[in-house]
Amino acid sequence: MGVIEIVKYPEPVLEKKGELVTEIDGVLQGKIEDMFESLYAVSGLGLAASQVGHPLALFIYDLSLSDTIPSEIKGPAAILNPEIVEMEGEVIGDEGCLSIPGYFEKVKRAVRVQLKGLDREGKEVRIEAEGLFARMLQHEVDHINGVMMVDHFSSLKKDIFFRKLKKRMKRGGTW
Ligand SMILES: [Zn+2]
Repeated sequence: MGVIEIVKYPEPVLEKKGELVTEIDGVLQGKIEDMFESLYAVSGLGLAASQVGHPLALFIYDLSLSDTIPSEIKGPAAILNPEIVEMEGEVIGDEGCLSIPGYFEKVKRAVRVQLKGLDREGKEVRIEAEGLFARMLQHEVDHINGVMMVDHFSSLKKDIFFRKLKKRMKRGGTW
């Protein structure tokens, strides 16, 4: 299939909870390959399956250009059935989303997280991350739970966001 156009907010699939992956087969590997092509086509760092229209508990990421993250965890990697098992600290930082392109807003996240899941072969993995990596993991796990970064906004920021969204919809344009 190749590059799939990334689903934009407020498409309903983005607010669906991803189903647990139970079958690791060729069909799934094909979906993962398409997700990587789609991620690279927009120069993104992470992408959840719902963002290409599959409501599955699956995301991919590629931080291989980073020189601070250990090579065994910086990807490119696909994580199935992820779960954040530990969170520590709090930090507010700018965040964006490929489903809301060009929109950046401050979101409060844990500084450090530990994530548990399966790799694309079905082997259990644990990732300890901090800073930007930890923020990305929390953002992607949110996607799997049907949670968008907008859901973290204060009511004032939400108002501004939805006013912009309404204008965009009226124009019939994209983000
Ligand atoms: Zn996103």
